[in-house]
Amino acid sequence: MIYKVITKAEFKKFVSSLIRDNQTIGPKQVDTDKDGRPIYHFVEVHSYDEMDLDYTITYYSVKRFFLPFREELSRFEFEEYDWRQKIEYRVHPRVIIGVRPCDINGLAILDRIFIEGAYPSPYYIARCRNTFIAGMDHEPLEDCFCESLDQHAVRDVFNLFRSDIGNKYYLTINSSKAFSFLKNFNISDPSKLDDQKYIERRKHIKKSFKTRVEVSGLPSFLDIEFKSPIWDKWGDKCLNCGTCAMVCATCCCHGVEETIDVGLKCSHKERSLYSCSIVDFAEVAGGHNFRPGRSDRLKYRFYHQYRGFAENADQPICVGCSRCGRACPAGITPEDVINDLGLETGE
Ligand code: SF4
Ligand code: SF4
Repeated sequence: MIYKVITKAEFKKFVSSLIRDNQTIGPKQVDTDKDGRPIYHFVEVHSYDEMDLDYTITYYSVKRFFLPFREELSRFEFEEYDWRQKIEYRVHPRVIIGVRPCDINGLAILDRIFIEGAYPSPYYIARCRNTFIAGMDHEPLEDCFCESLDQHAVRDVFNLFRSDIGNKYYLTINSSKAFSFLKNFNISDPSKLDDQKYIERRKHIKKSFKTRVEVSGLPSFLDIEFKSPIWDKWGDKCLNCGTCAMVCATCCCHGVEETIDVGLKCSHKERSLYSCSIVDFAEVAGGHNFRPGRSDRLKYRFYHQYRGFAENADQPICVGCSRCGRACPAGITPEDVINDLGLETGE
């Protein structure tokens, strides 16, 4: 990695040039909620001022630009006694601006599944290869708990990362593409004072988290607590709506469906994001459901997030973005469920 500094005015010029030359996605206020608070989404933007880089939360993470809720995998056309298959996974080069560490680390987890996993997805790989990620740090919100999972700082996956050190931005350059994009702009090596400010900024962010979730030793507590009444307590509240998985930065379970045209001339195969909280997720042919109860399904989601993946990949799949808790209509948050589990085990 290479470290540089840039003035805020020069950074604006740099981002404006990225926006001018590329399809660009950034955080933008799209509406207000019933209490008048702004609602932000990552959407396509056409100018720097259209974005709000001081956004509070986005309901959806940037996952949806890599794993859309629904996508066509292939299309078949039948002609006489033959058939043709059409598969497309081309993506135009694009830039995503303003991505926070938890979302960048969420993409790193998805990479482990869809790039390094047993069944790499060419659709996902095409999107990753054609996306330039410009991240940035931020003051933690009231309910952010990524620090508890060591996901508050970035390590990889991004191209460029911006930290606010007062009158300038401290840039972490993590790809030759980022370096080449910056070569026409006025950047300089950080001074000793800049380095010091950057370290102070990182320390300040680390100690500003107000929500902490105790996850050390969680996989073994989960083993012990498989039959805990906690699962019924929280499962009874769950509406099985699947919202938590849809907004999650890393949930990626999906279903694949093939639809055949009534004239039997063509068909298409689609993948749709699905959720283990939905009633029929574990239902198999013949109608047997492996997880028929609400508490079974809620428990399964927590086991997948904090135990199953952690055992195979040495880290939970959750990055602590808190989106599931914010969006849950029943008020179920990972913080409350895990803290309850800690009380149960006497931790
Ligand atoms: S489980 Fe919740 S807190 Fe964890 S990554 Fe998913 S949405 Fe964020
Ligand atoms: S969002 Fe809440 S109510 Fe809906 S499935 Fe998830 S935990 Fe259950």
